[in-house]
Amino acid sequence: MKFISAMLAAGPRVALLQPFAANRARREVDTAQIDTLIEPRWIVPVRPHGALLESHAIAVDGGLIRAVLPVAEAERRFSARSVVRLPDHCVTPGLVNAHTHASMALLRGVGDDMPLQQWLTERIWPLEQALVGEEFVHDGARLAAVEMLRAGVTTCSDMYFYPDVVARALTSVGMRAVVGIIAIGFPTAYAVDAEDYLRKGLQARDALRDDPLVSFTLAPHAPYTVSDETLARVSTLAEELDLPVHIHVHETAREIEDSIEQHGLRPLERLDRLGLLSERMIAVHAVHLTDAEIAQLGRVGASVAHCPVSNLKLANGVARVPAMLAAGVNVALGTDGAASNNRLDMFDEARFAALLAKAVAGDASMLPAAAALECATINGARALGLDKRIGSIEAGKEADLVAIELASPEVFPLFDPVSHLLYASGREHVTDVWVAGRHVVQTRQLINDEGIALDRAVLSSSSAWQNRCRQLLREKAPARSPSSKTPASGNWTPR
Ligand SMILES: [Zn+2]
Repeated sequence: MKFISAMLAAGPRVALLQPFAANRARREVDTAQIDTLIEPRWIVPVRPHGALLESHAIAVDGGLIRAVLPVAEAERRFSARSVVRLPDHCVTPGLVNAHTHASMALLRGVGDDMPLQQWLTERIWPLEQALVGEEFVHDGARLAAVEMLRAGVTTCSDMYFYPDVVARALTSVGMRAVVGIIAIGFPTAYAVDAEDYLRKGLQARDALRDDPLVSFTLAPHAPYTVSDETLARVSTLAEELDLPVHIHVHETAREIEDSIEQHGLRPLERLDRLGLLSERMIAVHAVHLTDAEIAQLGRVGASVAHCPVSNLKLANGVARVPAMLAAGVNVALGTDGAASNNRLDMFDEARFAALLAKAVAGDASMLPAAAALECATINGARALGLDKRIGSIEAGKEADLVAIELASPEVFPLFDPVSHLLYASGREHVTDVWVAGRHVVQTRQLINDEGIALDRAVLSSSSAWQNRCRQLLREKAPARSPSSKTPASGNWTPR
């Protein structure tokens, strides 16, 4: 039909008098069958930097972005099985949460406004010891995935026990999962020692090798919970398997003092000696860094997963993001776990990152909206080694997309959609989400392949865990660390 109307528009005389030209025109207007054409008011593709497209469409086929082009041209070139018109929306790449502990969503709000040690010893450790097993990890990760997808987070990098269970829970609701092969120097229900953690994580990687939504990092928990021997083994594995290394680094001032006392070295210095300071490193938090350490991270091309809300809530300080960016560090953003945030909300993280960067630098031009959005998308993808596949809206990349509706009073008037994405709108304005071309959130509801809304099932399992937590807290479970080998900082748990 489109071909015929184009021919009529061109006029029959042209076809009669110029048959070769007409044939060429006919080839040009042949339509290609594709899965989906998304036609929002605006597209913020993130690449090229600062671009804003109006009245453009995204052609999606086979899970991939086939083209980004003006709507009129898209409708000429493509015949889509589904056309999604979003007249008041801005479409961005799916947000990438570069650091979380998804299953800890079940511990959201279980201890707030408490000093770190009290929070750990009276709440988090006893509850984790009593509850953490495959079922808890699965239900928690699924709850987190529902929250994140509805908030436009299409990928998360997780660090927790049972990474295979986490991966399956996240992908079961359509989310892209980067799970950590965790190593920690203390026994848990999951594994008995560091070697056991690594062995089980590597088995999980083998088992999930063919899942296109799953990839892995090596995730030694932190310098203060992992031995030199294990860190050196992680360094070797990272090279052999070509994996990023996801590790908490310099979150608190105290862990640095403890390391100097115990090893005579600052933690980052120790990681460097063990071969871990490279472009593979994702240094989570990195709150307390010297000028020289920032320069070193930039020189080797490392990434930092900046988690501003968790750092503020636990009173750990503020990372020096302006200096990191100036040094060439790839700054990504993470929520950390819901036990210390308590939202898995990357719009929040991006906004806090931008505001804190301005405050820290004493310069309101620092980390402008477009740059903060890059931290939440392409920089996260780069940290995870996925920037060839996701992180921006470009032909050939996978179709991880988020539609944000910018039509309600709190986002009016609208002079610049990119400004609104950072400073005015939020996850409550996300209406639609695609992961690898699959439409997983429609009109604010997460649905499965059968079109069934998932929220209710997830709420029901979460409420059973809430009751168990309440009961355990009533019984005042004794506060104790999981091993007599409690590290000096007392902070062994992923958080
Ligand atoms: Zn963490």
